[in-house]
Amino acid sequence: MATRDERTAALYGNRFLTEEVPSTLFPATGMSPTDTMRMLGEDLALEGDPMRNLATFVTTWMEPEAQRIIAENLHRNFIDHAEYPISAEIEQRCVRMLADLFHAPGETTGCRTQGSSEAIMLGALSLKWKWKERHQAAGLSVGTPNLVFGGDVHVVWEKFCRYFDVEPRIIPLAKDKYTIGPDDVAPFLDENTIGVAAVLGTTFTGHMDDIVGINRLLLDVKAERGLDIPLHVDGASGGFVWPFLYPDSPWDFRLEQVRSINVSGHKYGLVYPGIGWLVFRETADLAQDLVFYENYLGKTDATFTLNFSTGAAMVLAQYYNFVRLGREGYTYVMKQMQQNARVLAANLRDTGRFEVIGDDLEQLPLVAFRLAGDHVGYDESDIAWQLSAERGWMVPAYTLPPDAQDVKILRALVKETMSRAQVDRLTQDIDEACKTLDLKGGAHPSERRRAKTGTGY
Ligand SMILES: *Cc1c(COP(=O)(O)O)cnc(C)c1O
Repeated sequence: MATRDERTAALYGNRFLTEEVPSTLFPATGMSPTDTMRMLGEDLALEGDPMRNLATFVTTWMEPEAQRIIAENLHRNFIDHAEYPISAEIEQRCVRMLADLFHAPGETTGCRTQGSSEAIMLGALSLKWKWKERHQAAGLSVGTPNLVFGGDVHVVWEKFCRYFDVEPRIIPLAKDKYTIGPDDVAPFLDENTIGVAAVLGTTFTGHMDDIVGINRLLLDVKAERGLDIPLHVDGASGGFVWPFLYPDSPWDFRLEQVRSINVSGHKYGLVYPGIGWLVFRETADLAQDLVFYENYLGKTDATFTLNFSTGAAMVLAQYYNFVRLGREGYTYVMKQMQQNARVLAANLRDTGRFEVIGDDLEQLPLVAFRLAGDHVGYDESDIAWQLSAERGWMVPAYTLPPDAQDVKILRALVKETMSRAQVDRLTQDIDEACKTLDLKGGAHPSERRRAKTGTGY
């Protein structure tokens, strides 16, 4: 029996308005759907506003029609291919379209994943298994496998090496060089190298490794030393940017040693979080030992995934975007973002406070910048904190990976929803934040600690 207090609370308010939210013990009793919804909503209201999050590469806006497709398909389990063969077919349509976009020479294979991280784990596992096959065929003993990549990669590459027992050979960056090229890679290669990973659009500055150069190096190594070392391109962000902004710049299957590519559908593929893609150059590039054929619910199914059950909604949303936008639409969106990023870069230079990093190079639509010249009293982290405190913009400040760790930068992504007016507003707000700091000096140490942000994801 509810007490009188509970009854009046239910009539005029909510229990959670005066009680703490359930957070440690499994709740003994429940609450009404409306109360639950309001409690969660009010809890989340104190979080950052995704529209002002210029740190994340992940999509924060989709069209209402796409949202409807997503909402109407949340109850569909993607892995149940027997029951949902159309969803499975739509995944394959997306894989074929991506293979076309990435210039695959012929028949290929690939799959949806939870994001680029799962795609990279699977792609790198395939590299490891293919290396083992090559070694066994040549009668060589299988030593300790290694994987070569630059310090400019996402953390997932090191994670893969630790989880799956591969030696990471990490090429350090330099003070003025934030990507890697063939001369950096060459000394790290040997017969136990399962592959080289190159990044198209780093999370740090949005640039690409010299993929053309690394491909050429690997072709030379094949010709001269008989080592056929595959190249995997981590196109988590760049895979949906380069084909539209720089269609004539080769980084994909146009280059012979590029055997696999991952891309995040939930970054510049413009879909909400929960979708990534792995595409192989040819069917033979996927190690067959990693494919499981199982009889599940009466149908033989081939699976190559780390997860099992997952929603079909984001696969459908990806297909929605492909057919809704096409090459023309994606090109329009990417160019619009690039144009506004250029305006932001010019604005920031005009303040006289900042230098912009590498906006003369092929780059993701973002602005990487740092304080110019000698400055006193505050640094980029202080600006990030002040800007967030004053206007709620989330712009991360971070140091670059070794050996460029002395370089600290700020990075603002210019997304589809960031209008020209907002770009000007942001510039003004950054300038205002600096003016505050000019007066008061750096943020208080405790503020600074809170402002410690990563590179965004
Ligand atoms: C974001 C990102 C990843 C990880 O991708 P998720 O889709 O978040 O799992 C890997 N590599 C690069 C270069 C990235 O930008």
